[in-house]
Amino acid sequence: MLQQDLHIHTTYSKSDSAVVPEQTISLVAAVKHARMVGISDHFENLVDGQFQTYEREVRQAGLKVGIEVDGQAWVIEAARCTVDYYIFHCRDRDADYRSLDGLLATRRPVIIAHPNALDTDLNRIPTECLIEINNRYIWRSDWKQFYGPFRDRFKFVLSSDAHQPNWLGQAVAQYAAGRLGVEEHLVFQ
Ligand SMILES: [Zn+2]
Ligand SMILES: [Zn+2]
Repeated sequence: MLQQDLHIHTTYSKSDSAVVPEQTISLVAAVKHARMVGISDHFENLVDGQFQTYEREVRQAGLKVGIEVDGQAWVIEAARCTVDYYIFHCRDRDADYRSLDGLLATRRPVIIAHPNALDTDLNRIPTECLIEINNRYIWRSDWKQFYGPFRDRFKFVLSSDAHQPNWLGQAVAQYAAGRLGVEEHLVFQ
C-alpha cells in the first residue's frame, strides 16, 4: 500500500475528458490504494454550487478534501473554501507566482502540481510549498535536470493524478523520486 495519494480526480471533474464514469469517490475509497487518500477535483468544476456536496461526500468517505486550483484567477475563491489542502497549477507567469501568497496565508498545505509539465520556475516558488512528483507527467521531461537542483530546497509529494481506477498508482513517480534521492513528505501524519 502507498503512503499517501492526494492528487486524484473523480466524476466531479466534469470538464476533464480523461475521467471515466466509474471513477467515483466511493470507488476510490473502496480501493484504498494508499494509507492517506485525498480527492482533488478541478475547482472550476465545483464553484457552481457543487463544492459543499463535494466536500460532504469526500469527508463521508473518510478521505481528505483537496481541490486543484488552475492559477491566479481562482485563488481568492479557493482560499475561502474549507479544504484540507490545495493542488496548484503555477504556470510561468507573474500573477500565478504572486497569488501563491493567498493560498499560503490560509496555513493549509499547498502542493505545486506537476511543475515540469507547466514550465513552473521552481526558483520562484516559496519554500513552504510542497513540490509534486506526479506519476502522470514526471516521465514527460528531463526530470533529473528539472528537479535535481531543488532536491534540498523543498519537500516533495508523490501522487498519481488518477482520472481512472487503473491510474491509482505511483510506480514512475516512485522510480524518479528514488533516482533523485528524494524522500516523500507525508502531509497528514
Ligand atoms: Zn493538473
Ligand atoms: Zn489533476
